[in-house]
Amino acid sequence: MCKVPGGIVLKRFRPEQAFFEKEALEYPLGKRMHTFLQKHSIPITIIPSHNRVTGIPGANPMEAYRNAKRTIVVGIKRTMELDICKPSANYQFSLSTGCVGGCHYCYLQTTMGKKPYIRIYVNTDEIFDNLNQYIEKRAPRLTFFESSSSSDPVGVEHMTGSLKKAIEFFAKSKYGRLRIVTKFAQVDSLLDIHHNQHTRFRFSLNSDYVIRNFEQMTATLEERIEAAGKIAQAGYPLGFILAPIMHYEGWQDEYSYMLSHLSKTLANTSVKDLTFELIQYRFTKAAKNIILERFPNTKLDMDESNRKYKWGKYGRGKWVYPDEKSKELDQFIRQQIKEKFPAARVQYFT
Ligand code: SF4
Repeated sequence: MCKVPGGIVLKRFRPEQAFFEKEALEYPLGKRMHTFLQKHSIPITIIPSHNRVTGIPGANPMEAYRNAKRTIVVGIKRTMELDICKPSANYQFSLSTGCVGGCHYCYLQTTMGKKPYIRIYVNTDEIFDNLNQYIEKRAPRLTFFESSSSSDPVGVEHMTGSLKKAIEFFAKSKYGRLRIVTKFAQVDSLLDIHHNQHTRFRFSLNSDYVIRNFEQMTATLEERIEAAGKIAQAGYPLGFILAPIMHYEGWQDEYSYMLSHLSKTLANTSVKDLTFELIQYRFTKAAKNIILERFPNTKLDMDESNRKYKWGKYGRGKWVYPDEKSKELDQFIRQQIKEKFPAARVQYFT
């Protein structure tokens, strides 16, 4: 997304600078990306490896973060070993890493650390060949792959077309299935393609308050719901992740409105097997420190005295709502879903 004269916001992200691994030019996507960047007069720096990006300016953490978020790095994915991705899939894989969105609470704040720029991998055929090997090992069991663990692939799809390719790859795969999560709405290029119902789209939705205050540079609630309606019409399996669910004054009305609006939009579609995943807002100490550096004026409520510490694996824990509030969120949202989507499955609240 970018501002143009007159203050209009373009809904499609356009980088302000690019780093380009030389070898990436040998791949069709690399050539296309290079042409795209040149066409839009985006400065390109050629680098020997996508791991050696230096020189993104920034006088303070806020500015450095902002500039990195407008930088893309085009390179080749060399590590092909896939991480396990429980509980939503068997494995996770990336066509890109980093995200063009600017959500204050984003988990990538900590996982990507000092490298929040957007990396795009051009060797998609090699990535798909690797997935095939994982699929074959588990066949005839189905193998589910999550493609949004370290990025939001829809946000860069207008530049890469890689998600379309992935959906078509999985459409032909007998035992492989794809899962996507997005907060973006540019789905038109994915509607008329052969998906064979092997890709489950999950839209990440939230109340208007949360989206307006904490999810900058993503699609609005209206846009996401409209896009979800299009995906349902196109016959994809569909789901929603409500995350992070926040407890603030007026939260019931806003979440209720959001679910009513969604239910009206989906009423005209023949969507089946609708799923909901519910995740309450939580934060870690490391995330809080980074968020306050990058968004010093954030309205995120990260006051530990109103929270309960939940221990996790490896002795690392996070701050969640105390039991009473957490139960209130869980019960209210489940009840709303039951009323508005009687056939839907709530997979979990965490
Ligand atoms: S859209 Fe998702 S991945 Fe992107 S910044 Fe927001 S929370 Fe992070």
